[in-house]
Amino acid sequence: MTEKQNIRHLSLEELQEQFLELEEPRFRAAQIWQWLWQKGAPGFHEMTNLPKAFREKLESHYDVYRMSVSDRQLSTDKTIKCGFRLYDGEFVEGVLIPQESRMTACISSQVGCSLTCSFCATARLPRKRNLFFDEIYDQVDMINRMATESYGVHLSNIVFMGMGEPLLNYSQVMKAIERITAEDGLGMSPKRITVSTAGIAKMIKKLGDDDVKFNLAVSLHAANDEKRNKIMPINETNSLGALSEALLYFYDKTGTRVTFEYVMLQDENDTPKDAEELAAFAKILPSKINLIEYNPIENGIYQKSSGNAMHRFKDLLEQKGCIVNIRRSRGQDIDAACGQLANKQLNPVI
Ligand code: SAH
Repeated sequence: MTEKQNIRHLSLEELQEQFLELEEPRFRAAQIWQWLWQKGAPGFHEMTNLPKAFREKLESHYDVYRMSVSDRQLSTDKTIKCGFRLYDGEFVEGVLIPQESRMTACISSQVGCSLTCSFCATARLPRKRNLFFDEIYDQVDMINRMATESYGVHLSNIVFMGMGEPLLNYSQVMKAIERITAEDGLGMSPKRITVSTAGIAKMIKKLGDDDVKFNLAVSLHAANDEKRNKIMPINETNSLGALSEALLYFYDKTGTRVTFEYVMLQDENDTPKDAEELAAFAKILPSKINLIEYNPIENGIYQKSSGNAMHRFKDLLEQKGCIVNIRRSRGQDIDAACGQLANKQLNPVI
């Protein structure tokens, strides 16, 4: 049997054209568009205001390929981790993080990851494939539904900080954000969306050329090439020099302040010298720094910096004029925190 066409990979115009060929009235396309992108219909059967014969016709030509929730875990801090099953049997994870003033979805952009950052559990999974834009969209839509069902509040923020490197899946991430922000999609503000990258210089420039309206976070973790090579091998081909040049270009084009993420690893990147190097790097452009508590991963080689060390580090950065926040970990008990997404239910780390 040949695979049916993914109906969500068609634009509204393409849908209208194809319906002409199927001898269906043009307005049907808009009706279906709404079912697909706003009402989250898992299939044609659920599109109850369409004639049955038409639904059957659709069924024979297309598929929606909507993902399903395979697993849900609730943390004591109310964070919810979801496992999503994709149409081809692969899995990704997404996280709902309720906070006092915001409801954040942390979503994945790839199945696994090709980068091998030494502190991250996802890095141990092979990168199997990029997610399609509709799969990225589904995570947001489904986590949004979960937020309203469980906590009575809509999502307010989205961060691309789950599995994968979003800038190595550029076109699908961009398309997903278009649908998430579109009026005939989820209608969310791009200002509430943050794409987090390990620092792919060429693609950061492309974000500038595309004049994106969402926020950019860079996982820095060391502002010294030798150290950063060790922690994040991507630095060998995207050095701090290349990264700073790309970030300046991005800022020049978009005027958007960048966030630097910095996971604090005891005796590894938390010394006064590290703070000095970080301050010097961060100050090349308007930015803020998030100091992130390291979340232990199985058989990990690092320890987290102590609370005192984090505060000392923060003080040093502030003395140099940086804007700094300390980010506490969420959902650790269910392996839902940053860097802990590893499809553990399915891929026990031995
Ligand atoms: N590839 C992208 C997005 C995924 S990582 C990126 O590198 O930014 C999302 C964030 O989680 C990054 O800042 C990453 O450095 C951080 N992270 C990874 N492992 C972590 C861990 N064990 N503890 C705390 N943060 C971690």
